[in-house]
Amino acid sequence: MTGPLEGASALVTGGTRGIGRAIVVGLVADGAKVTFTGTNDAAAAETVAATGRPEACKFVKADVADAAGVKAVVEAAVAHGGGLDILVNNAGITRDNLLMRMSDEEWDRVIAVNLKGVFLTTRAATRPLMKSKRGRIVNISSVVGLMGNAGQANYAASKGGIDAFTKAVARELSGRGVTANAVAPGYITTDMTAGLPAGAADELGKRIPLGRLGTPEDVAGVVRFLASPAASYVTGQVICVDGGMVM
Ligand code: NDP
Repeated sequence: MTGPLEGASALVTGGTRGIGRAIVVGLVADGAKVTFTGTNDAAAAETVAATGRPEACKFVKADVADAAGVKAVVEAAVAHGGGLDILVNNAGITRDNLLMRMSDEEWDRVIAVNLKGVFLTTRAATRPLMKSKRGRIVNISSVVGLMGNAGQANYAASKGGIDAFTKAVARELSGRGVTANAVAPGYITTDMTAGLPAGAADELGKRIPLGRLGTPEDVAGVVRFLASPAASYVTGQVICVDGGMVM
């Protein structure tokens, strides 16, 4: 049986846990060879095992905020997959604080990983993506980039920046057949949201029209669609995967 991404080469940043792991597993299931990054070797091994196809996976330990490291990651992805067709910028962090108390370090690190990391990786991947006949960029932003959220000025700015970056890149690369879209998750059950106080998840679930928090697979499903041939006429969009929080 062949999947819609048979023969394709993909790079996923932050594939060692959570949403990134579900994306790696999904793209491998669709037939792609996937290179993924992160900083935790043990968690990376769990991602590879979860795909059930270790030969399709390559893990490269790298920080998305490090330009030299990012260049090496893209080279590794091109070598592993025989080119590059799909880039998923997923790596992201939070350093929450109220604005008045937010330190320069909290601001700078979130912008460096979430926004500059997307810029560095996309820039490094542009040439091989343009060579592909089906180049795809999928950036993971957040509903917080659209709605804002108290205590997350740094994170909201980084995610809103990703949405704007995505549209600029979509226009710039459209002539080369490369699409660029953002996926904006709502509340998804991962390590990132594990710090919610007891009962808060249930309370949040009640305020989400579909009545529950999302799963990493909910997000990965939309990423798989955007990476597939079925989405070849979709570009410059921000697609919320949030159970209806933003509508
Ligand atoms: P997790 O905290 O569960 O996982 C984050 C992933 O990013 C890990 O694989 C981690 O790798 C990687 N990562 C973090 N910093 C770096 C870095 N500097 N360089 C390379 N990799 C890095 O987060 P989620 O799975 O929840 O989030 C994934 C994306 O989805 C993020 O961009 C996040 O902002 C976004 N998102 C999540 C939502 C949610 O509710 N969970 C909602 C909206 C958006 P390692 O551990 O190996 O360092």
